[in-house]
Amino acid sequence: MKVFKFGGASVKDAASFKNVASILSAYQDEDIVLVLSALGKTTNKLESILEAHYMGGPNAKALLSELISFHLEIVHKLFTDVTAIVAELNDLFVEIEWILEDEPHSDYNYEYDQLVSFGELFSTRILSGYLNEIGLSNHWLDARNVILTDNSYRRANVNWAQTELRIVHQIPPLLAERKLVITQGFIGCTSENYNSTLGREGSDFSAGVFSYALNAESLSIWKDVPGILTGDPRRLEDVVKIEHMSYREAIEMTYYGAKVIHPKTIKPLQNKGISLFVRSFKNPEERGTEIKHFEVEPNYPPVIVIEDDQCLINISTKDFSFIAEKHLSGIFTQLAEYGISVRLMRNTAISFTICSTYEERKMNKLIDFLQEDFNVELIPDLQLVTVRHYNLETIEKYRINRKVLFEEQLSKMVQLVLE
Ligand code: ADP
Ligand code: ASP
Ligand code: MG
Repeated sequence: MKVFKFGGASVKDAASFKNVASILSAYQDEDIVLVLSALGKTTNKLESILEAHYMGGPNAKALLSELISFHLEIVHKLFTDVTAIVAELNDLFVEIEWILEDEPHSDYNYEYDQLVSFGELFSTRILSGYLNEIGLSNHWLDARNVILTDNSYRRANVNWAQTELRIVHQIPPLLAERKLVITQGFIGCTSENYNSTLGREGSDFSAGVFSYALNAESLSIWKDVPGILTGDPRRLEDVVKIEHMSYREAIEMTYYGAKVIHPKTIKPLQNKGISLFVRSFKNPEERGTEIKHFEVEPNYPPVIVIEDDQCLINISTKDFSFIAEKHLSGIFTQLAEYGISVRLMRNTAISFTICSTYEERKMNKLIDFLQEDFNVELIPDLQLVTVRHYNLETIEKYRINRKVLFEEQLSKMVQLVLE
């Protein structure tokens, strides 16, 4: 049994759906659980609809019409008879219209998950219906029946015991009947039956959860790149593919922002020793990058990860007293409470500095809280450059003509926060 994950880029138009079908046709003899993201940039669009809903006015409905048209256009290109699929999608569109007719909920994160989770429902309905139409018989599974989470909306935590039980109970009979199961990434369900989401780009993690629970032979994440490269090809030239990578290297590089896979994907795979292949949906016969356990860590070339939208937050005591452990423990409790993850940190006698991704709502809450006891300074619009397995030449390239606000050098990694 193998798990496949296809992202938004692999289902961005009708031709890409056909490409997914052609990849799957080569695996008809195997049991496959396919985890799918929303089409193209649908999740961003749903986020804009949500924002517009909170702002009031007619904009949310106009944006929803655009999203509906985008999906229906693809459907018309894929299906010979669109009646059944359009009826299925309409049921979902109506549910969104109901949400937009109500007043926005006082809990923004809750409302986010009720609305933004629809993207994966649309995409999987379309893919499942299309594959059935062309003879790739499959079952559509509602991930909300199996991925159980707590109610930390927008970053829900998986209830592993319940989720594993449900996956093990529900999926094998479906595979026994038809060898292909299509389900959604990114979404889950709380114990009160509300939709939850696992964090942006969370479909990779969902695929990791399914792989873990099913003891999959491997997980393949199909991408528009040949595998994990030494940097993002959209920003850097001369990047090369890394053939083999350890779980440790993969989790470290993605944690600092390499957008190629979600960092949470690695743990469930490592825990069961399941190999992860990151491979190209454009060249499906190529092997891609294999991530697994290595007794001896492979040698890596310098790997560069660039993250924009970073900020530094300098926190210092108002009365010149030392930053003590009890201050730090209070600060970390709030960081955890607001879901702010720290990329880098450093303390001096009377100050503590962290580097994090700037998210306005979260930062405002944190600063309001901290200002009661500390002087707080936030420096936005920074870039975090992480170079793993660095050499001096690579680091110098980033230092040249830039103002370095923060720098940390470890044996395998250099990080620079740049203006
Ligand atoms: P998906 O739609 O499958 O979720 P994403 O767009 O999220 O795909 O991720 C694929 C993109 O990740 C690639 O197109 C590439 O630009 C980017 N990327 C960033 N860092 C790397 C890297 N180190 N190796 C490969 N791709 C990377
Ligand atoms: N559709 C979600 C997102 O864009 C989840 C994912 O694609 O992984 O964040
Ligand atoms: Mg993605």
